[in-house]
Amino acid sequence: MSRVKIAAGNWKMNKTAKEAVEFVEALKPRVADADAEVVVGVPFVCIPGVKKAVEGSNIKVAAQNIHWEEKGAFTGEVSGPMLADLGVDYVIIGHSERRQYFAETDETVNKKAHAVFKYGMKPIICVGESLTQREQGVTAELVRYQVKIALLGLTAEQVKETVIAYEPIWAIGTGKTATTEQAEEVCAIIRNVVKELYGDDVAQAIRIQYGGSVNAANAAELFAMPNIDGGLVGGASLKLDDFEKIAKYN
Ligand code: PGA
Repeated sequence: MSRVKIAAGNWKMNKTAKEAVEFVEALKPRVADADAEVVVGVPFVCIPGVKKAVEGSNIKVAAQNIHWEEKGAFTGEVSGPMLADLGVDYVIIGHSERRQYFAETDETVNKKAHAVFKYGMKPIICVGESLTQREQGVTAELVRYQVKIALLGLTAEQVKETVIAYEPIWAIGTGKTATTEQAEEVCAIIRNVVKELYGDDVAQAIRIQYGGSVNAANAAELFAMPNIDGGLVGGASLKLDDFEKIAKYN
């Protein structure tokens, strides 16, 4: 099966609403003929403007978080219906920064994945090990566990539409990319867990990205690996030239 690679920018807490619109306006023509599916993961406040700006283009929009409840007393949170109403396509969930600073757990990641599907969007679920975990040799165990809990209760059809981003924490924002072999090895492990849980059909359909210091120089080599279906890109997604090159990896 040939899976369409996905180049997803994770802007994190960068750009005002105005800057975001200016950026995507400039990005649109540059990626119109991109090889990969192009997604920009923008701060909540940028979503309305960015959605309007990308209308009629091939750029899809991701939110960076969601609350699993539909509404209620959850100060500061944003729910599925609110994001769906804005036309959000993807939601990034379980990013290591959210796990580290905002107490996100595998269980809340799972609840969020269900909420994302309930409101007609698709999740980009982040998993990955810390440097200590890698050095202790528990990467495979940990990532298998994270994936199993994240997908709990999702249907085969939903898992086919899911994107998993393997992001070793030690490679995020550090300029220290995992080697293509390291990235491929863990992405293959993830595909194998999906196969154990849902069968080969689903395992061949799900897209598994690599994330962690992906840039214009290393994207092609990473994306060429059989189990790497694109990248979740932080720093380099904030630069037009770099993100264009990543989206046109071929
Ligand atoms: P980076 O971030 O590309 O800046 O390393 C990736 C991410 O955190 O998703």
